[in-house]
Amino acid sequence: MRSTLSIALAGNPNAGKTTLFNRLTGARQHVGNYPGVTVEKKEGFLTHNGREIKVTDLPGTYSLTAYSVEELVARDFIVNQRPDVVVDIVDASNLERNLYLSCQFLELGAPMVIALNMVDVAENRGIEIDADRLARLLGVPVVPIVARSGKGIDKLFDAILETAAINNAVHPILLRYGSDLDQTITALLPLIEKNKLLTDDYPARWIALKFLEHDEQILEKAKQLNPELTEELLQNCETVTTHLQQTMEVYPEAVIADHRYGYIKSVLHQGVIREKFVGDRLYTSDKIDKIVTHRILGPLIMAAILFGLYTFTFNYSTTLVDLLASLFTLASNSIDSLLPDGPLKSMIISGVIDGMGGVLGFVPIIMFMFFGIAVLEDSGYLARVAFMMDRIFHFFGLHGSSVMPFIVSGGIAGGCAVPGVMATRTLRSPKERMATLLTVPFMNCGAKLPVLTLLIGAFFSAHQARYMFLATLAAWLVALIAAKFLRMTVLRGESTPFVMELPPYRFPTLRGLVIHTWERTWQYIKKAGTVILGISILLWAMMTYPGLPQDKADTFKRQRQEIRIQLQGEQKINTVEDKTTDIGQVLHGNLEAALVEISQQEAQAHLRNSFAGRIGIALESISRFAGFDWRTNIALVGGFAAKEVIISTLGTAYSLGDVDPDNTSTLKDRLTADPRWNPVVALSFLAFIMFYAPCFVTIVCIAREAGSWKWAFFSMAFNTGFAFILAVCIYQIGIFLGLGG
Ligand code: GDP
Ligand code: MG
Repeated sequence: MRSTLSIALAGNPNAGKTTLFNRLTGARQHVGNYPGVTVEKKEGFLTHNGREIKVTDLPGTYSLTAYSVEELVARDFIVNQRPDVVVDIVDASNLERNLYLSCQFLELGAPMVIALNMVDVAENRGIEIDADRLARLLGVPVVPIVARSGKGIDKLFDAILETAAINNAVHPILLRYGSDLDQTITALLPLIEKNKLLTDDYPARWIALKFLEHDEQILEKAKQLNPELTEELLQNCETVTTHLQQTMEVYPEAVIADHRYGYIKSVLHQGVIREKFVGDRLYTSDKIDKIVTHRILGPLIMAAILFGLYTFTFNYSTTLVDLLASLFTLASNSIDSLLPDGPLKSMIISGVIDGMGGVLGFVPIIMFMFFGIAVLEDSGYLARVAFMMDRIFHFFGLHGSSVMPFIVSGGIAGGCAVPGVMATRTLRSPKERMATLLTVPFMNCGAKLPVLTLLIGAFFSAHQARYMFLATLAAWLVALIAAKFLRMTVLRGESTPFVMELPPYRFPTLRGLVIHTWERTWQYIKKAGTVILGISILLWAMMTYPGLPQDKADTFKRQRQEIRIQLQGEQKINTVEDKTTDIGQVLHGNLEAALVEISQQEAQAHLRNSFAGRIGIALESISRFAGFDWRTNIALVGGFAAKEVIISTLGTAYSLGDVDPDNTSTLKDRLTADPRWNPVVALSFLAFIMFYAPCFVTIVCIAREAGSWKWAFFSMAFNTGFAFILAVCIYQIGIFLGLGG
């Protein structure tokens, strides 16, 4: 430890630096110039508790950019001379503006103490500041002082000495600057770190920021050290600058400044400032916030807006979804009539076209949802939602921004986990994001609803509405508890409670919205599309092959032939007699029905013999603990392709032929009549469907968003394991209580 402690006084002009400096050093000071510039440099000495301390009064600045000589001098002094502690003097009566500079010191990772000066002035104006809370939120000591009278100076020195003692343990804070800039920073960081570009003097992240801000001094230094790398980094910055210009008509500098102010605002919003007389000095954003983040009105407005977004996404996209669906039906039908029957036709229709339909069917929903989210995000409202929801979600190890993905995935009942998983992009902390994207598939998406409706209608028809409501409630409960569990185990780690920005409200530009929406939609189509097509064909093959053994197929063929012969014979009789008798008609009807029955039995046998069917049968030895027989299992295996498939597969497995998910009365009757089914099995099945592995489109999206297949497989295993344990518990307890009937 150096024997002389060196501290620097920094702050906005008129914050009281010189007053403090004079009070500290008295006559032991001298005035000079910083080398090469006409900026006055004042240095002085004092002794505190036997410790010799050198104090430097830095020029007053509002910022640490390279725009003025004062700013450069202050910055260079801190970086080159490395004072043990930077004392940032902040005018308490003008806190928000003054903290802008503090924020930059924090980003620079300077060891610092905030001297909250002029608290007397603030008090007179009716402003009360909770210094402890401010200190906790910023992560540095904050000491209220009155430089003019010397009040609080002893405490200030205690804090200074304490900070000096842990000098080297300072971590720069990580502010976020919106997805565009954050992405660029993430891209620049490894380049800067790998090449050690200026990293001896500055934190790598800070250098990346300076590149984005086009900081002349840093660019000059970098160019001298490594011209090629500098060029490469600048090119990256150019791309994002152009993008920001096109979408928002702003420069990176402005976005960065906005986010710093946003960060400060959110810090001050958390009970740091209490104003006794509220004047009319409020900015428009603050005025809006008074209403929008109001304790009672805020949540009501939020509920209305989120519900609006939800309605917008799922209602207005249906026209496009239907249009796409009919296009795909058209394609299927024309292939059907063009190609001869056989495996090729079956693969193109059930593998390729259905698979593509599955992928592209989500596109309108994704487009609408991202458009809605872009409006909320670009206008600044999304940050307020996160701000309000944070306390609740924080308890479960999530973040306020998690609410949106949950709602989109079906939090109000009937949504889709695919855009839900993609919506987790608004979350910044990797672990909170992961916990959110792993739990959103627990929500009741639109594809699970018909299955829930079928089962509840069949076995709990007396309390239909109540059960549907309970299903929604259960989804939230399970998702939040699972999130908490994940955050305590595999995703353990700190949450990001306070680094949340409240940027000023802005009118989003249409161009920006369209570009944002399209970028995200295209990413989905491009990356998810290829994988999904492959899996779709695989699943088709699993449900189709190896097909019926020859002798079985022949048996069905023979049976059909026999009936056809009977039918023909009957027709002959009819034509001979030249009139259709009632008996003839009944007989005819019976024969036709028998023909259909045979096809259905053949389909069932075919499915049973397929790979999916064999898996279903093999699983019976385990699944019986939850009350599921092989038919149910096949439907669940099929449900992995898409939850909609559960009903139609169940229909085939019960040899009912094609079951229309919108009209399930035959399947309902069959299930209620089947001795294997009862309310306990139905409940166990319900629980399993709600919580088992997400459909594979969601899985592919999880893999993409999480950046690795590991998490996708984890999601499948975790959800299925959990769902199975739950289903077994329900079934066993139900049977034990004798509710099985
Ligand atoms: P500098 O520009 O940061 O060096 O600020 P100065 O030290 O020159 O102070 C600016 C003005 O604020 C001067 O008139 C000081 O007397 C006044 N001042 C400084 N500290 C305090 C304080 O704690 N309370 C009050 N009421 N005035 C102060
Ligand atoms: Mg001064």
